[in-house]
Amino acid sequence: MTPIQLISPVDGSVYAERLPMTLDAARSMAAAARAAQKPWAARPLAERIALVRKGIANLNAMKDRVVEELAWQMGRPTRFGGEFGGVNARTDYMADIAEQALALVMIEDSAAFRRYIAREALGVVFIVAPWNYPYLTTINTLIPALIAGNTVVLKHASQTMLVGERLAEAFHAAGIPADVFQNVVLDHPTTEALIAGRAFNFVNFTGSVRGGQAIERAAAGTFTPLGLELGGKDPGYVRADANLDAAVDTLMDGAMFNAGQCCCGIERIYVHESLYDAFVEKSVAWVNALTLGNPFDAASTLGPMANKRFADVVRAQTAEAIAMGARPLIDPKAFPADDGGAYLAPQILVNVSHAMRVMTEESFGPVVGIMKVRDDAEALRLMNDSPYGLTASIWTQDYDTAAALGAQVETGTVYMNRADYLDPALCWTGCKDTGRGGSLSFLGYHSVTRPKSYHLKKV
Ligand code: NAP
Repeated sequence: MTPIQLISPVDGSVYAERLPMTLDAARSMAAAARAAQKPWAARPLAERIALVRKGIANLNAMKDRVVEELAWQMGRPTRFGGEFGGVNARTDYMADIAEQALALVMIEDSAAFRRYIAREALGVVFIVAPWNYPYLTTINTLIPALIAGNTVVLKHASQTMLVGERLAEAFHAAGIPADVFQNVVLDHPTTEALIAGRAFNFVNFTGSVRGGQAIERAAAGTFTPLGLELGGKDPGYVRADANLDAAVDTLMDGAMFNAGQCCCGIERIYVHESLYDAFVEKSVAWVNALTLGNPFDAASTLGPMANKRFADVVRAQTAEAIAMGARPLIDPKAFPADDGGAYLAPQILVNVSHAMRVMTEESFGPVVGIMKVRDDAEALRLMNDSPYGLTASIWTQDYDTAAALGAQVETGTVYMNRADYLDPALCWTGCKDTGRGGSLSFLGYHSVTRPKSYHLKKV
């Protein structure tokens, strides 16, 4: 087998390389996960919860190393301190609600009958994770899957392959057996062969639409349930009654944070004509205050994109839009660290339309297009003119208006006056090409368990 290489966006060096498993070794690994599942599920729920919490505590103890490795692997500036806030909040929430979310539902408990619905672990859960929020996207499934009594196999993105190693280290040190949680390095054909061979009882795939389609094809005919958390092209809509400064601040942060590499990042903005000029002017000032640079430099608020090929996509979409009449408002010369490679200056485009890919296809980078709209109807039409359906961010002072618009927006989440945020108590889900299924919240436990009905009669 040829090694899989992790090329660092910081300096283009090979930061790590690992040999992928052979298919035979991968099959043995999956068999070990299956053999370990029933004994794991037989442990008391409180014990599984305690072990998972200890695993995350161990990860926190590795914070310095994790933050440094994240910068090397995917370019996130160290000043942001990794993903610990979200990792801890989501773990705590999912651990806190586990007992209730997994509790049986008693229908009848009488002298004649006991009838109830229990929730049973699915078996072996396979997580295929992306590099953009490599810890957060993994723990969304890892935590509830282990707590519910599944064993877990994790195949992390090649770009962030050390994340899986760190999680395994932390969880094994907590006392979670090696076969209960395995981190593996797999190439695509082996991944697909395992799925096609019914090695898993649930697959959570977070990544691109194309990757999701490949996983769905691999699973065809096996009836393996899939959770598919795929791409997005999330809109922001600023109504005439919006708080302008708050809208600029949150939507620009949503567009630019993590170099725009957030599944629910803001990729297109529609602004009511009465606020348009002021919104654009303030947004340009906001973006010009960013500092692009080496992620280890404390001054850097914008690091390189995770890989030069991702920056190439954004450059191509931007150039194509400009050739079609879009106007760039940020002077790349104001960002001297832009090297034509992974380091990419942020950009705001106006005079854009939905004839341009930058307004319809996922960019996944620090570029955002802004359009003027006349009213809610025009904004709704444009927000829904997308193959994706992850989130929409509506800016208004009125809950009822936001909810009424939200009911007509084709997305998994509707925000009012916030963006680019996952609430662990709410279901993380999408529609259209963004995929299907749901993680987090009590419904996240439904994805990793199945209902089992007990109909017990005394005769
Ligand atoms: P990706 O290229 O699809 O890869 C995601 C993961 O799937 C990686 O582990 C990758 O492995 C693996 N993979 C891809 N194609 C595969 C195949 N044919 N067979 C087996 N494994 C395969 O996506 P990415 O570039 O890492 O992530 C960015 C994408 O994820 C964006 O589209 C973003 O919107 C989406 N995303 C969505 C959410 C959400 O909640 N909806 C959250 C985060 C990210 P290798 O790395 O080894 O190729």
